[in-house]
Amino acid sequence: MAGIEAARRGRRVVVIDHADSPGEKIRISGGGRCNFTNLNIAADRFLGRNPRFALSALRRYSQHDFIDRMNRWGIAWHEKTLGQLFCDGPATQVVAALTRDLAAAGGSCGWAAGWGMWTR
Ligand SMILES: Cc1cc2nc3c(=O)[nH]c(=O)nc-3n(C[C@H](O)[C@H](O)[C@H](O)COP(=O)(O)OP(=O)(O)OC[C@H]3O[C@@H](n4cnc5c(N)ncnc54)[C@H](O)[C@@H]3O)c2cc1C
Repeated sequence: MAGIEAARRGRRVVVIDHADSPGEKIRISGGGRCNFTNLNIAADRFLGRNPRFALSALRRYSQHDFIDRMNRWGIAWHEKTLGQLFCDGPATQVVAALTRDLAAAGGSCGWAAGWGMWTR
């Protein structure tokens, strides 16, 4: 997401990852259905030395911003329990949407499978 935003602002972006494919942790998240956010996120539910950090971060980007993004991507989702939101289908849809957005913004990405000589 940082790469997408930077590329949209005209920066030259190459995301380099030593994994074999993009978004591996997203792919396995939520048992393969990506528990992508929670409806009940609130700044006072975060622990940390700086309690204002969550406040300012959530003012700039909240769970509702990500839900809007999922809706724009056309990825179906549902609430499971206690506000937890999961994809109806596989989490790979989220990975595909992110890599599509990166390419559309003019960024590119490289994975271990494609750049063997850099990986070790
Ligand atoms: C099994 C599992 C299920 C989870 N389910 C959920 C869920 O449903 N919902 C949720 O919100 N969170 C979930 N999490 C937690 C979530 O995955 C992490 O909080 C999140 O991925 C952290 O994001 P990150 O970008 O900081 O790190 P990561 O997603 O780990 O990304 C770091 C990336 O850096 C790459 N990298 C590392 N070292 C190098 C290097 N030297 N050179 C190049 N690349 C490198 C890695 O390959 C990796 O792709 C889950 C975690 C696990 C393990």
